[in-house]
Amino acid sequence: MVHVVVVGGGISGCGAALTARKCGAEVTLIEKIDTLVSGAKRAGRIFNGGLVALEEAKALGGGDLFEVLESIVIHDTGIPGEGRCIVYNCGLVEIRIREFLVNMGIKIRLETRVMNAESSSDRVTSVELEDGTIIETDGVVDSSGGAGGVELCTKYGKGCIMCIYKCPVFGDRVSIATKLGGVEKIRLRPNGKPGTVGAAISLHKTSLSPDLRERIERDGTVLIPLPQDIIDANLQKLKEQASGRTEAQMRTLNLVDIGISAKIVGAAYMSLPMMRRLPGMETVEIEEPAGAGKFNKITGLSIMLHDHALKVDGFSNLFCAGEHSGKVGVADCLSSGLLSGHNAVRTAVGKEPLVLSRKLIIGESIAYFSDGTRNGDTLQGRFGNMGQGPFFDHIKQLGLYSEDAEIIHKRVSDAGLKGVFSEKIA
Ligand SMILES: Cc1cc2nc3c(=O)[nH]c(=O)nc-3n(C[C@H](O)[C@H](O)[C@H](O)COP(=O)(O)OP(=O)(O)OC[C@H]3O[C@@H](n4cnc5c(N)ncnc54)[C@H](O)[C@@H]3O)c2cc1C
Repeated sequence: MVHVVVVGGGISGCGAALTARKCGAEVTLIEKIDTLVSGAKRAGRIFNGGLVALEEAKALGGGDLFEVLESIVIHDTGIPGEGRCIVYNCGLVEIRIREFLVNMGIKIRLETRVMNAESSSDRVTSVELEDGTIIETDGVVDSSGGAGGVELCTKYGKGCIMCIYKCPVFGDRVSIATKLGGVEKIRLRPNGKPGTVGAAISLHKTSLSPDLRERIERDGTVLIPLPQDIIDANLQKLKEQASGRTEAQMRTLNLVDIGISAKIVGAAYMSLPMMRRLPGMETVEIEEPAGAGKFNKITGLSIMLHDHALKVDGFSNLFCAGEHSGKVGVADCLSSGLLSGHNAVRTAVGKEPLVLSRKLIIGESIAYFSDGTRNGDTLQGRFGNMGQGPFFDHIKQLGLYSEDAEIIHKRVSDAGLKGVFSEKIA
């Protein structure tokens, strides 16, 4: 039986494990920390083009994990200036996805870090775990993300901010694609500093005033106008950071109920004293990053050069996905994982890897960020994702954005790709 190893159990690695298994492979999903889903545990929101990708994934036969996310949606609403948005319960996402993958027969190894890999000519033949165990493989997906380790966070930020990856506890991120000689790129902020900084800080809902808590749980989202000095500070930070955020988002504090907590979205920078000046937030406490922090993750530090099939340059059976392939966002990362897992099996059985049509948002996203990484276009300044910013504008210009599920499913059929991720090939 074909054996595929997926390195990194974030949402993209979960997607890769799903499609590799659906093709008929034996799959081992390896994660260094003690939980799956990582970044997506504090995300929650899927919006605009991300919702198109969700429908495309269903039509492609790989929508299972998007359906798991839909089954735990707590708000289906719009966020001003951001279009339609669904919000899943971040308190349930890991357990539901893990249960689903376990029921599919995927072998999950938590608290297990891949440290190295062996290759023979252009094929990866095995990966090596921290304890020296060797696992042989026919195909590999490197979905190890683009954040950390501690040294990079210190070099490019102001040190470890104890984000979800907890590198001091579980060890730094290790990319085997990089270790094997794959070419790695770094994204730059507009101020020239490496990495993208996120301030999607989660707040304890119990620390909000009862009125504010009631409003956010009822409406899903609440916008609190900011005083001018905080707006000015935010606009300054916006100029310095690479993101898909807008100036309008800097004028209010946008709070979203993600179930387990209330999350700040779209902010460039927000310290606890700043928050405590706002009505209803006088006693606010930060839930993540643990207890204090102006921002909570630096990413974009490791993006592999790859082709439109997500194959890492120089290898025939090594694929990348998610943030490690230059994307940001739950829908973007999950959908790229679906193709990489599928292609790991295809190449293992001697088939050509699949390249998705650019008439699909998933296909366009993979090709756009593959080319953008190669020519540098998506490595500098604002780039956005399926839901917002320049890439969302790009897909609207191409006419790929639609809120009509029937149109989206028809596009997949017209491209001859209906159900492709469900076909047994191994
Ligand atoms: C706080 C926060 C809020 C966000 N909010 C939103 C939102 O509202 N909407 C949205 O669309 N997106 C949001 N995002 C972005 C989105 O969550 C991420 O882009 C996406 O989840 C990244 O998924 P990934 O699988 O590519 O990477 P990751 O989630 O980073 O997963 C990579 C995994 O690989 C593991 N790993 C690394 N090296 C190794 C190794 N050698 N061996 C084993 N495991 C390894 C890491 O521990 C990690 O678990 C948010 C992100 C954060 C951090």
